[in-house]
Amino acid sequence: MDADTIVAPATAAGRAAIGVLRVSGPRAAAVCRALTGREPPPPRLASLRRLAEPASGEVVDRGLVIWFPAPGSYTGEDLLEIQHHGGSAVAAALLSACLASPGVRPALPGELTRRSFLAGRLDLTQVEAVADLIDATSRAQARQAMRQLDGELGRRCESWRTALLDALAVVEAEIDFGPDQDLPADLVDSLAASVAAVRDGMARAVATARSGERLREGLVVAVTGAPNAGKSTLVNRLAGRDVAIVTAVPGTTRDVIEVAIELAGLPVVLLDTAGLRDTTDPVEAEGVARARRRAATADLRLLLIAPGEPVPEPDDGSLVVRSKADLAVGPAGSGPLAISALTGTGIEALLDEVAGRLRAIAGEGTAAVTRERHRLALMDATAALERFLAGRRDLELALLGEELRLAVEAIGRVTGRVGGEEVLDRIFARFCIGK
Ligand code: GDP
Repeated sequence: MDADTIVAPATAAGRAAIGVLRVSGPRAAAVCRALTGREPPPPRLASLRRLAEPASGEVVDRGLVIWFPAPGSYTGEDLLEIQHHGGSAVAAALLSACLASPGVRPALPGELTRRSFLAGRLDLTQVEAVADLIDATSRAQARQAMRQLDGELGRRCESWRTALLDALAVVEAEIDFGPDQDLPADLVDSLAASVAAVRDGMARAVATARSGERLREGLVVAVTGAPNAGKSTLVNRLAGRDVAIVTAVPGTTRDVIEVAIELAGLPVVLLDTAGLRDTTDPVEAEGVARARRRAATADLRLLLIAPGEPVPEPDDGSLVVRSKADLAVGPAGSGPLAISALTGTGIEALLDEVAGRLRAIAGEGTAAVTRERHRLALMDATAALERFLAGRRDLELALLGEELRLAVEAIGRVTGRVGGEEVLDRIFARFCIGK
């Protein structure tokens, strides 16, 4: 394990009632003595202490000190947590007081969590869940991250891995017994049954991947329609603030404007597309091209139709909405949903409809597979098991064993049992300092 002692603020910078500073590593107790003049308090009990600058002896603040001795701390190392008054001057003074101790340096982004992973306290899926929980802006995202932090995906991967290792042990025993032999038929059948069970379990988990990934990344709703159909006005109404430029001149929303909102507990990115019309103005043409590309890949498209315009047949993933209902002549009757972004008519019904469609895409946060990284590794594993099952009657034992090994390795990549520094660097680079 790293011998450096690291220190980082765990709370965001700025004015606040309290701030938290964490010191992790072998010198954490020395930092406690230097700042408080005393030994660390008993484990996991808050102790109110004066916090002084070691060089001058000047008292910077009074705060709570909590001691988490190794190995039962977040990082698995000795960890000192200092809860001080929030505010940049106090935080900065305490941070430099910690750094004045020899062998103490600032933590890199994600370094505390990285140590937790290296100490075996969190697997890689849980590390990702910590990042997701911090980034979550909606309840459904937070719920999904929490289940992953509880170790659900990690536990499933471990049970698949163990089952395959058992099967591999049988194959290897047969290899030792006589490398040229085929497997006895009854043994082949029992191995095939357990391998098929693992494959089916993984296939079911992968089937939830799309909803897991969509929920984690946020669902994209594109508001589309002809110039002046009322797209910007609707986006502003939904977002509750003035984000898109509303203007009566056609074609002035030249680029795609994105607004992140929470809708029925789901994270949604609203796209206000440029007026989708052909144009000779190169700047506007680029806006239109971008809008078309983004809208084409959105999870849902709201196609706004102004009064008097013909209503098209909606394609898959599109919802036709009549705009400016307050201007429409005659009774609304049946047909597509009618709204007025100006008066608010029909907006609730529209939100219900949109939320229903998005929920069908994102699920309720019950997906186990939440990242492309998980999905690709599990698909690799599934492919190896398919080859095992297809070849079990005529492939050599050594080749069958190799397929099982490939599957075990691929599953190990999900939890981080297998995998290089590069994968870790990529995952931890996205963390904030202090986690
Ligand atoms: P976009 O080009 O599709 O983004 O359309 P805008 O949102 O810029 O709206 C074009 C014009 O229609 C503006 O003058 C808006 O004030 C007006 N407008 C938008 N929505 C409504 C509505 O629900 N009712 C009425 N009466 N006018 C609207």
